[in-house]
Amino acid sequence: MSDGPAHLTDPFGRDIRYLRVSVTDRCDLRCVYCMAETMHFLPKAELLTLEELDRLCTAFVRLGVRKLRLTGGEPLVRRNIMDLVRNLGRHLGDGLDELTLTTNGTQLAGKAADLAAAGVRRINVSLDTLDPAKYRALTRWGDFARVMDGLAAADDAGLRVKINAVALRGVNDDEADRLIAWCGDRGYDLTFIEVMPMGEIGSEARLDQYLPLSILRGRLAQRWTLEDVPLRTGGPARYARVTETGGLLGFITPMTHNFCAACNRVRVTCTGTLYMCLGQEDAADLRAPLRQADNDVPLEAAIRAAIARKPAGHDFVIDRRQKRPAVGRHMSVTGG
Ligand code: SAM
Ligand code: SF4
Repeated sequence: MSDGPAHLTDPFGRDIRYLRVSVTDRCDLRCVYCMAETMHFLPKAELLTLEELDRLCTAFVRLGVRKLRLTGGEPLVRRNIMDLVRNLGRHLGDGLDELTLTTNGTQLAGKAADLAAAGVRRINVSLDTLDPAKYRALTRWGDFARVMDGLAAADDAGLRVKINAVALRGVNDDEADRLIAWCGDRGYDLTFIEVMPMGEIGSEARLDQYLPLSILRGRLAQRWTLEDVPLRTGGPARYARVTETGGLLGFITPMTHNFCAACNRVRVTCTGTLYMCLGQEDAADLRAPLRQADNDVPLEAAIRAAIARKPAGHDFVIDRRQKRPAVGRHMSVTGG
């Protein structure tokens, strides 16, 4: 069905195949680069219900989306989230190729088996350090042992794991080799992410901590053999194979690399706002059309109108003269 006329194609000829959905803006951690210590979360009444999230995702699948990623905030802290995951699983093999999520791993111990049963095959787990004390400091109160238990449960459930680590100068850049070796031992792929100027976090630390991944990669290449692999996901990651471990190593470089030409993704927030580009403010409200009718006619029309405005690309700048974040919303709103 997805190759029919229903297709979502933007003005630059890019087919929209990938939807990321933030199911909550809340989180049980407060990673220092992502959130301020005191965050004001949305009133729960503003959130789409789980049924509305299901309708919305289902409409996108009908319109040709093949990959759904649930994110947040922390997706696994949303109440009854497993109901949504199970329901979305019904589209797998019937329009949808992949259902996945990005999580901080704190709730995985109790949920990994259910995720696998719902049809999830791969997950991304964010973990910036292997040092429990540093982990606590970076997340403000996270418990490293819980994430390790969660990862063990993911392994037991047969989920493939990719670790996402934000590269922070002077914080975890000394651990990059150790992370590569550890992921290699456990059979995990690993992706480093450049810190992005999104959302007020109550300090200017991100400017000092910004580490261009070209520098990190140069450093890593002295110790590891990195063979470029032509794997493109439509996203901002570039991949290399680490010969010594066999694992994939990704570099997400939104600040230094222009990846927009192949971008096939859009994002929806937990209130039903559709962002056509992570790095731009333009957005479309899908909550009103969702609630306007029991059928999806207004919703599909709103989605099409929004995709017709997807911009050619973003223009992030991390710059000391411009002290405010390039994009005002936090990463936890659109979920990265
Ligand atoms: N809570 C889940 C997690 O941490 O995996 C999902 C949401 S989190 C916002 C998604 C990803 O965005 C995480 O890998 C996190 O490290 C990353 N992230 C958050 N703030 C960021 C920033 N300012 N720059 C770059 N990556 C960021
Ligand atoms: Fe929470 Fe993820 Fe942001 Fe950390 S990066 S505060 S785990 S939403």
